[in-house]
Amino acid sequence: MSKELRNIITETKKQLEHLRVLGVDGIQVTAEPATVVERLKPVAAPRAEPIKPPAPIENVPRADPMSSLFGEIAPPPVKLTPSNETFEQIHAEIGDCTRCPLHLERTHVVHTEGNRKARLMFVGEAPGADEDIQARPFVGRAGQLLTKIIEAIGMKREEVLIGNVNRCRPPGNRAPTTEEATTCKPYLLREIAIVQPKVIVVLGNTAMKNLLDTREGITRMRGRFLDYKGIKVMPTFHPAYLLRDPSKKRETWEDLKMVRDYLDSHP
Ligand code: URA
Repeated sequence: MSKELRNIITETKKQLEHLRVLGVDGIQVTAEPATVVERLKPVAAPRAEPIKPPAPIENVPRADPMSSLFGEIAPPPVKLTPSNETFEQIHAEIGDCTRCPLHLERTHVVHTEGNRKARLMFVGEAPGADEDIQARPFVGRAGQLLTKIIEAIGMKREEVLIGNVNRCRPPGNRAPTTEEATTCKPYLLREIAIVQPKVIVVLGNTAMKNLLDTREGITRMRGRFLDYKGIKVMPTFHPAYLLRDPSKKRETWEDLKMVRDYLDSHP
């Protein structure tokens, strides 16, 4: 198969995936099949940067493609319901959790910590070794870098809220499974409903996919705000990844500047 044909197939698959994410579940194929010559005609060069589809975020109704096409009835925006719970109630309910296999090798359940009136929240994937021992999120090397990132946008660590989708350390720091994430995530969402931060920064591919149920990777999703029930969500690289590849700090800084500017313009 020629390289050109492979490119066409790859691009077509991407476009179909894009349409599927947009909610289109069928396309009309022309009744007049193209001639062989037409079919083999060179197509436009593949786009350097494919169109980013809007992220399908949990609990945010996807727009009906027909109504959005004709610009008529937009679905009412889903807002986070205010919560009367407390963190203490949620943590007591979690207790000495055995709801998923991660309990087998953890030392401590690592709860969300920080300012419970925070305007800014950071969400990671799961505790590592240091966090498991100290029972606090983001206290290892990646955590120290996160503290510097927070300070770089003119805030203090104590001002923000920091948590993870999963509260127990996966053995060998493997990524939590979807099932493990699905079991633990509701507690984080309940904390988010209590605090209602203006912005959530979600750190890295696993945390983003587990929190938002997205399919795209972090490289394509980072750098633009998503919405979770009225809260701005900015996906960016995980600090542990930045330790491995410091060249990605520049993009992370761009993302965090957007967060800082949004917070500054929404006092
Ligand atoms: N990585 C995470 O995702 N969370 C932590 O708390 C520490 C490292």
